[in-house]
Amino acid sequence: MARASADLVEVFLALREDWVRPGVRTRDLDARVEELILGQGNLPAFRGYRGFPGSVCISINEEVVHGIPSDREILDGDIVAVDIGLMKDGWYADSAETFCVGEVRPEAVGLCESCEAGLEAGIAAARPGHRLVEIGRAIESRGRKDGFGVVETLVGHGIGRSLHEDPKVPNYECFTLPNPVLEAGMVLALEPMFTLGGSRVRVLPDEWTVVTVDGSWAAHFEHTVAITEDGPVNLTAR
Ligand code: MG
Ligand code: MG
Repeated sequence: MARASADLVEVFLALREDWVRPGVRTRDLDARVEELILGQGNLPAFRGYRGFPGSVCISINEEVVHGIPSDREILDGDIVAVDIGLMKDGWYADSAETFCVGEVRPEAVGLCESCEAGLEAGIAAARPGHRLVEIGRAIESRGRKDGFGVVETLVGHGIGRSLHEDPKVPNYECFTLPNPVLEAGMVLALEPMFTLGGSRVRVLPDEWTVVTVDGSWAAHFEHTVAITEDGPVNLTAR
């Protein structure tokens, strides 16, 4: 999984160069990422997953997650969440990052910074002996402290030989889902979603794209994190 994650980091470092910029169609971004993943000898994990029609989820502004690549052009001032999974030798890695494109309004930049900080706080809580809920508590408290909405109906997950494994990893202090003790050897995908407004989301008629109900903008960051005796190891750290 560390090797799969290293390849996924390479994809994100390429994206950071200048792939996510005004005028780029999300369909073309998807194709470019897919080509890179295939060139690594890996498989894009999302293409065909439950019928998803792309290799990358690209979610812009009020879109939270699961945006479908299309003819839509990225514009100056957009925040663009890019979520990518790949499989290497039967093992999965999953990561997401929200890019601020050009001149983004300051509150949206702050949203992205807070969401990434919330993810880091969640990672720090992913230690053997802790309960799972401590991850969600750390993420949620960061979002609330900064005044942002924390999406609750979409969660992180275990990851390994499958893209999505148990347990579900809520981004808030949840006591209605299983709350196991964390153990060395577990690998979890932590993926908070924060919004500039409320926490409620809905799915568009395309049956994939998740948007905020109130139309407020959303950020999404994700890392694949291994829990070891020495604490968390962020396998997809850039
Ligand atoms: Mg993901
Ligand atoms: Mg995920």
